[in-house]
Amino acid sequence: MSTAFDTYQSLLAAIAADGGPSREVHDPATGELIARVPIHDETDLAHAIERARSAQPGWAALSDEERSAALNRVADVVEAAAEPLAELLSREQGKPLNGPNARFEVGACAAWLRATAATPLPVEVVVDDGDAYAELHRRPIGLVAAITPWNWPMMIAVWQIAPSLRMGNAVVAKPSEYTPLSGLALTAVMNSVLPDGVLSTVVGDGALGAAMTTSPAFGKIMFTGSTATGKRIVQSSADNLTRLTLELGGNDAGIVLPDVDPAAIAQDLFWGAFINTGQTCAAMKRLYVHEDVYDEVVAALAEVAAAMPMGVGVDEQNVLGPLQNRMQFDVVDRLVEAAKSSGARVVLGGDPDRGAVGNFYPTTLIADIDPANPLVLEEQFGPALPIIRYHDVDEAIALANGVDVGLGASVWSADRAKARDIASRLQAGTVWINSHGGVHPMIPFGGVKQSGYGLEFGAEGLKSVSVPQVING
Ligand code: NDP
Repeated sequence: MSTAFDTYQSLLAAIAADGGPSREVHDPATGELIARVPIHDETDLAHAIERARSAQPGWAALSDEERSAALNRVADVVEAAAEPLAELLSREQGKPLNGPNARFEVGACAAWLRATAATPLPVEVVVDDGDAYAELHRRPIGLVAAITPWNWPMMIAVWQIAPSLRMGNAVVAKPSEYTPLSGLALTAVMNSVLPDGVLSTVVGDGALGAAMTTSPAFGKIMFTGSTATGKRIVQSSADNLTRLTLELGGNDAGIVLPDVDPAAIAQDLFWGAFINTGQTCAAMKRLYVHEDVYDEVVAALAEVAAAMPMGVGVDEQNVLGPLQNRMQFDVVDRLVEAAKSSGARVVLGGDPDRGAVGNFYPTTLIADIDPANPLVLEEQFGPALPIIRYHDVDEAIALANGVDVGLGASVWSADRAKARDIASRLQAGTVWINSHGGVHPMIPFGGVKQSGYGLEFGAEGLKSVSVPQVING
């Protein structure tokens, strides 16, 4: 017998609007109508909050082991529905099934659920000296609001939901209005094994997100998205002193030292910048290359980039897709035009078909660009990489640090000690050596400066969705 999640069609049927206010969702590659999605309002949000409030005490009363076991069961059903989930993700977000894209994202959801279930967080004995005895416990916060963007709509949702559930909270999630189906589908699958009300998803626009951030019901807001929205959330949550984890935009720099082998690093440089067709918070968005190897690195990168097929996500051969939405296409287009009109050299791409139905922006490499060009200083969040020539490394470090965000950065060198020394001088939450952007469920991840605050993943991530309680005596 087939269940609701065996096939793409049955998954879609389980989540598509069936009456009430709704709107159309289209495939960003083809313009094809995928489904109609409900439009939730503040009454729907109030219902989700009520259900979460009823469910949370019972969920928190389970043992940590029982909640971890439940997360593993959630991972099982996500794995069982992996193909339909990946197809839906590919059609709605645009990312291809293959490469580090839709199947990879669904696989990461399951991996993160299991790792979150397995992460130890023992009670900490902070003093035990004969005179004093104190333990630090971690208690549930209550209700967590999980507000997510459209670039990795399933994986980022799991990053917020899994630790929140593990720590005994109930969650109300709001996906981006650009990717509501991905959020609803993930929740539907997860809820097939979770107690009722522990996890709900409401779908609507930014106004619904804003309503969540002013609600006193939530003790914590997990937010991933733009710096501008992050600042609004700080303001709108202030009256309730709601705890916040803010994972905001970045403009990650990569610094290539003169001792590299250009051909050997070209593939990793490419994926560091172009993963998810550049629509990744911690993708490499500016590449600083020493003049001694500049031409070789640009040539090696161009060779790799030119060979990567871009197209409709559900066509198995593609590894790059369209931009998810026209707003982002226009951002990339504007920034590349700014670079072109400044006289920078187009090595590859830069010539989109603006009249086409899909939001395809070709893979673009821009060389010999002024370090102060807008394509360098603003976040492009798409498949266009500026490559800046530098003379000495102090200059490259100053340029890398010369923006007001600091999510990630990378240093590329044959000399690990030298690379680590440069890493210590970079203002970024993570600095990778000879790679860029890889995340791991046990390694804390978060930004500095205006890339936000708070850490996700591992024990630090669990702490961030709990409140500390000291038992003294
Ligand atoms: P937003 O910050 O606007 O959206 C992120 C989420 O916040 C969405 O669910 C959105 O809902 C919601 N939201 C919007 N306004 C509010 C509000 N006032 N209060 C609470 N929640 C709100 O990002 P965009 O999707 O518009 O992307 C804009 C830029 O952000 C991109 O160009 C890119 O530079 C950056 N970005 C960064 C990401 C990251 O991973 N750090 C991910 C995606 C984008 P809705 O979409 O329904 O309006």
